[in-house]
Amino acid sequence: MSKRHPNPRLAKIHRNYTVEEVASLFGIHRNTVREWIKRGLPTNDDRRPILILGRDLVAFLHARRTKNKRTCRPGEIYCVRCRAPKAPAGDMADYQAVTDTLGNLIAICSECETLMYLRVSLAKLEQVRGKLDITMMQALLHIDESARPSVNCDLR
Ligand SMILES: [Zn+2]
Repeated sequence: MSKRHPNPRLAKIHRNYTVEEVASLFGIHRNTVREWIKRGLPTNDDRRPILILGRDLVAFLHARRTKNKRTCRPGEIYCVRCRAPKAPAGDMADYQAVTDTLGNLIAICSECETLMYLRVSLAKLEQVRGKLDITMMQALLHIDESARPSVNCDLR
């Protein structure tokens, strides 16, 4: 069993658990359980010992798993440094065309300022953009083309 990803199925939803019981249930340290409580795992906080409802525990672990595993939502790009989908800084990204139909979204991670890349087809750009302000870098290609000596000169 992975200690980093405790299996929520080990907890029984109709039971109450103390911090120690949760720790031994998943084979983790008590401080990890206390960390979960800090991060929003509900308890009967005015009583001692602290009791955690099995139902809350299961819900918390499920939410945590999905959060860790989740793929990019629209408007997010996977940051290799944060190891998580992140919103680009300023919600801005550049689309750099690789071919007529495929390109890269390039943005800066809002958290660690690492460059993030997302290979995306032009057809799917609308699905992934979310609220991103995308600058289409294809314009540069057109400039390059027009800068080349033109054989059939239809520009004046
Ligand atoms: Zn990052």
